[in-house]
Amino acid sequence: MKKSIRIAWLYPDLMSTYGDRGNVIVLERRSSWRGVRADIVPVTLETPVSVLESCGLIFMGGAQDRQQKLAGEDFLKRKGPVVKKMVESNIPALFVCAAYQFVGRYYKPYQGDTIPGAGIFDLTTEHPGDQAKRLIGNVRAEIVNPHVLAGTVIVGFENHGGRTHLGPKMKPLAKVISGNGNNGDDGWEGVIYKNAIGSYFHGPLLPKNPAIADWLLEKALGTLALLNDTLEQKANESVR
Ligand code: GLN
Repeated sequence: MKKSIRIAWLYPDLMSTYGDRGNVIVLERRSSWRGVRADIVPVTLETPVSVLESCGLIFMGGAQDRQQKLAGEDFLKRKGPVVKKMVESNIPALFVCAAYQFVGRYYKPYQGDTIPGAGIFDLTTEHPGDQAKRLIGNVRAEIVNPHVLAGTVIVGFENHGGRTHLGPKMKPLAKVISGNGNNGDDGWEGVIYKNAIGSYFHGPLLPKNPAIADWLLEKALGTLALLNDTLEQKANESVR
């Protein structure tokens, strides 16, 4: 097992809505509890891509449409191509909500221009208009992907207007039990490709779903010692 990790946190000042900063705190804590030094590396609009390339795990969180657009040019022209290369080389990554939309082919907000995506995942997201209900509330889903803890029930909070649809070769992360997930229609939540996960689950996701946190950390560090997750499991079971 490696004894240190650098965790890239993309656009912490723009894309960290609904407590998504909690995800990087969990990754740092679950590393430290195992004696692994974890450095959280903020990657802002001004950060050179060389800093991003030096990291072994990537996190990008949710945002309102406005902040998504502010990050758009930098992500598409500078950071996105590097993130794509890192994901293709099996660097673990977690993309939540707006970030999930951003790493697809495009996000079409209900007003303004379509925001092109980095094309890391073959998926598209479209907002059906300001008269359409936002997909908001607690959400539960069962992981269906055999490479990622199949059968585990994950929980979170969703708040998005965009509806995401996966391309034919994309593997969903989980089957919705209650709530909406990707689009409130096809019953799928999230996506997994190589060691990268996209999800609509805020909450933040990782504190109530430690198995996902450890899955990401193991891809970066190697086999991990087990932790006592009694409290985390109680938090998971509390979401209905
Ligand atoms: N702005 C995007 C939408 O409304 C993403 C929102 C979010 O990140 N929670 O769909």
